[in-house]
Amino acid sequence: MSSLSSAPALPRVVIIGCGFGGLEAARTLRGEPVDIVVIEKTNHHLFQPLLYQVATAGLAAPSIAAPTRWLFRGQPNVTTMLGEVCGIDPAARCVRLDNDHVVHYDHLIVAAGATHSYFGHDDWAAQAPGLKTLADAFEIRRRVLTAFERAELEEDPQRRRALLTFVVIGGGPTGVEMAGTLAEIARHTLAGEFRRIVPSTAEVLLIEGSNRVLQAMPEDLSERARQQLERLGVRVRLDALVTRIDAQGLDVREGGASGAATRIDSGCVIWAAGVAASPLGRLLAQATHVECDRAGRVRVQPDLSLPDHPEISVVGDLAAALSHVPGQEPRPVPGVSPAAKQMGRHAARNVLARIAGGATHPFRYKDWGNLATIGRNAAVADVPTPFGPLRFSGYPAWLFWLFVHVYFLIGFRNRLIVLMDWASAYWTFRRHARVVPEVRESER
Ligand SMILES: Cc1cc2nc3c(=O)[nH]c(=O)nc-3n(C[C@H](O)[C@H](O)[C@H](O)COP(=O)(O)OP(=O)(O)OC[C@H]3O[C@@H](n4cnc5c(N)ncnc54)[C@H](O)[C@@H]3O)c2cc1C
Repeated sequence: MSSLSSAPALPRVVIIGCGFGGLEAARTLRGEPVDIVVIEKTNHHLFQPLLYQVATAGLAAPSIAAPTRWLFRGQPNVTTMLGEVCGIDPAARCVRLDNDHVVHYDHLIVAAGATHSYFGHDDWAAQAPGLKTLADAFEIRRRVLTAFERAELEEDPQRRRALLTFVVIGGGPTGVEMAGTLAEIARHTLAGEFRRIVPSTAEVLLIEGSNRVLQAMPEDLSERARQQLERLGVRVRLDALVTRIDAQGLDVREGGASGAATRIDSGCVIWAAGVAASPLGRLLAQATHVECDRAGRVRVQPDLSLPDHPEISVVGDLAAALSHVPGQEPRPVPGVSPAAKQMGRHAARNVLARIAGGATHPFRYKDWGNLATIGRNAAVADVPTPFGPLRFSGYPAWLFWLFVHVYFLIGFRNRLIVLMDWASAYWTFRRHARVVPEVRESER
């Protein structure tokens, strides 16, 4: 076994993060004469696009997450390390982990992803959890299910109403799918299970600061998404800015800066409004004297490496990267999983080119389109074709979304389980993962 802190016989490629970008980079190097070390702070790869299903009790965690070690069991050139990278020393070419291990690298691929941004109001995190990790999903599931339980026991009608008011902040894909599914839980899943409350009277509000949901979609699809949400029972409030969140609810200003402030009492607020790069981005930028953008993403060269540090590449949500199509203006690469996978693959190929003494290539993003699910039989899709964009919504878009997500899930068993759970949920409206480990004293 080679020492991790000294240079190995083969060139060592260290990959930080085993999300979409990191996993794809490691897989691209399968069978190559390199010594790969994948460092991941959790013990699993997570399929984030289905995380909202865990948060809303539709799927169990193992259906959308796979142990990192298991993923590389058939790839002998990969060593997996559990730990959080907390320091990078480009001069010594090593990374330092929180458990005091030091790992030497010849080539470094940083794929540490993103986290939530509360736009300077970090104190809101305690009242309005975001959705990024399995721990976040468990916390949201606990809050949603215990809100109904507390409402059942509440004598005061005003407090009961607040407990049955669910607020999702942020009308991007995550906010839209969370709100749509919460409405389905209230209307269908819990029907007939309570004796003192009627779950279908719960209110689900989606608060969005701009004038439409799903900003990345064309306007007509945003409008269709809004209509589908309203049909599912979600009240969409556009041009609404959250100005305060506390333990009892939130303050919202509607209709621009001069608009009136409204108070919403709520027992469950979910944050789906802002994304910032992993803090590792700023750390790396300081160490290499490279710039970050406003979201903390590291500005990379066309080939995804860092200026003056060709041995370091940044990929996925952590990179402020441009797509370079010959004859066109470079365009920003979006923060989506296909982009992270493509960047991971590209950075790994560039590492091999560099080892072989060849030239690296600029990154070019292949856009497969944009999909968002809203709820049962409701979704929107914008797919580029050689004949122009194909835009559709409703049941066909929902079926397409379902197929794509099951196809890209990792592992045959996961695909099968997700398909079976969805089929059962579709026909019975039941959600199988409604187990909450503990109800806190303050929530009884
Ligand atoms: C709720 C949600 C829904 C989404 N839905 C969609 C969707 O429908 N379609 C779509 O295309 N995209 C979707 N995305 C976006 C997509 O998941 C990301 O673009 C993609 O995960 C980015 O890949 P990545 O490899 O850059 O980062 P990630 O996949 O986030 O992976 C980063 C990894 O790095 C690890 N890590 C972080 N810091 C450290 C450290 N210091 N040391 C060690 N390890 C570290 C993390 O634990 C994580 O495993 C969604 C994201 C979320 C949160």
